[in-house]
Amino acid sequence: MKKKGFVLLDRDGTVIVERHYLSDPDRVELLPGSAAGLRQMASMGLGLVLITNQSGIGRGFFDETRVREIHQRLQDLLAVEGVELDGIYFCPHKPTDDCDCRKPRTGMVEKATKCLGFDPQKSFVIGDKPCDVELGQAVGATTFLVRTGYGAKVATEGSTNPDYIVNNLVEAAEVIQKIIALSSQRFSCGDAARSAVSGQLSAQAAQVLPLLDLANFNCPDLNG
Ligand SMILES: [Mg+2]
Ligand SMILES: [Zn+2]
Repeated sequence: MKKKGFVLLDRDGTVIVERHYLSDPDRVELLPGSAAGLRQMASMGLGLVLITNQSGIGRGFFDETRVREIHQRLQDLLAVEGVELDGIYFCPHKPTDDCDCRKPRTGMVEKATKCLGFDPQKSFVIGDKPCDVELGQAVGATTFLVRTGYGAKVATEGSTNPDYIVNNLVEAAEVIQKIIALSSQRFSCGDAARSAVSGQLSAQAAQVLPLLDLANFNCPDLNG
């Protein structure tokens, strides 16, 4: 079935519990609300893609085979919950390798868009670190910082400027649903709507955005 859009998800601290350089498939643990949020996104017709930096490979902590085992375990856990991922991309390099795929660089998203055939500007990027938000901004996506993993701390620091800050993937799914429901023309006025929303974001940094205000936003493309 053709997807209506794609959600690009960070792995550690976003979908599964953050473990410092996770190297054991048995320690893969879904975050509370992960499966439910992903299920809701899939039910909206959205594709789900994992985009993850795994420099533990380049640092020699574990190899690619181990990462694939971890991803198999993750897919097994999600399958039990009725969730299927459409793709998984990982960067095996360490920061000093200066590759083009380590987030916030866009190599993995470029690969995903080529393989799966979608417009990154119409996608949603969700993660718990500034590099996730910056990746999303670099490809023109709508960006979410989630307050799981390192996200709670990052949100407090204000070191990055996502379109939305949410507590978990269930909240992310709800926001995405509202954005999509808002208007089929949302993407033509997305920038204006988003800048209106990010004004609110700085004023109410600690709160989930009231989406009703976004719904009341007058899109110039629709009214002018
Ligand atoms: Mg993360
Ligand atoms: Zn890389």
